[in-house]
Amino acid sequence: MHDPLPPQMHVFVRDWLSSNIVVLRSERGSVVIDSGYGKHAPLTLALVASRMGLNGAPLAKLVNTHCHSDHVGGNAALQRAYGCPIAVPAAEMPLIRAWDERALLLRHAGQHAERFTADDALEPGNTYTFGDLEWRALAAPGHDMAALVFFNDEHRTLISGDALWENGYGIVMPPQVDENALPATRATLDMIAGLDARWVIPGHGEPFGDVRAALERAFRRTAAFEADSRRMARHVLKVLLMFSLLDRERLPLASLAEHVACVPIYGEFNARFFGLPAAELAEQLVGELVRAGAARIDDADLVPG
Ligand SMILES: [Zn+2]
Repeated sequence: MHDPLPPQMHVFVRDWLSSNIVVLRSERGSVVIDSGYGKHAPLTLALVASRMGLNGAPLAKLVNTHCHSDHVGGNAALQRAYGCPIAVPAAEMPLIRAWDERALLLRHAGQHAERFTADDALEPGNTYTFGDLEWRALAAPGHDMAALVFFNDEHRTLISGDALWENGYGIVMPPQVDENALPATRATLDMIAGLDARWVIPGHGEPFGDVRAALERAFRRTAAFEADSRRMARHVLKVLLMFSLLDRERLPLASLAEHVACVPIYGEFNARFFGLPAAELAEQLVGELVRAGAARIDDADLVPG
């Protein structure tokens, strides 16, 4: 595929455990956007340092689209390696300062990130220069209520984080958990549709150019969620269980009831939406992941599919 990205920009496409990493090179100061999951921090460091990355240049700033574990997991390692300041969405500064493991969906959701310090607050509506290009920071609440996306008008390129993927977007909390999240998701998609972007660099998956089709899929998903909040809740738990599975690489089936009983978000969602014994909820989630081909059973373990 013809790559319309400006030459000073490189996207390292990662996976579902680690977000993509965008490197924007500039003689006036190179910028990296997002840093993957902590478990992959050594690979993140190697990619950022590589020929397609900084290639020996210093790192002037690390920027995060939002502060979920799969986007900030390499922050501390990059901060140590380069001594660079870290910029996060302004609304997430207090959460990072306080290291609020619940609001950041860390221990609360069975995830980990090494603590880091945030130096600069990115304000929606402001324009920032990354890699000699001007990027408008735009509020993109929904998946994360503080999230930002970055739009470059010259190349009509959008760095979308988890607000829009080629097929869907990051988990969104059901209305019973956050009544604003789903309406914000729809409003963010409307905002993105209005940008008329030609190219989207998502937080996960390959960059894509058929933005209209991606938005159609995202709007369809949103309508399905609006029609069924229990379905939304199941989706959130399945995604979180899948994330833990990718993190640990295999989970003994016998451990899953305890996982569901001990990681707080499962208990909260179970009480609110399902009212099942933990073992039964675990069994249902595993069954759905296996039927969808996302996971399979190997001996007595659940493994990625
Ligand atoms: Zn996210």
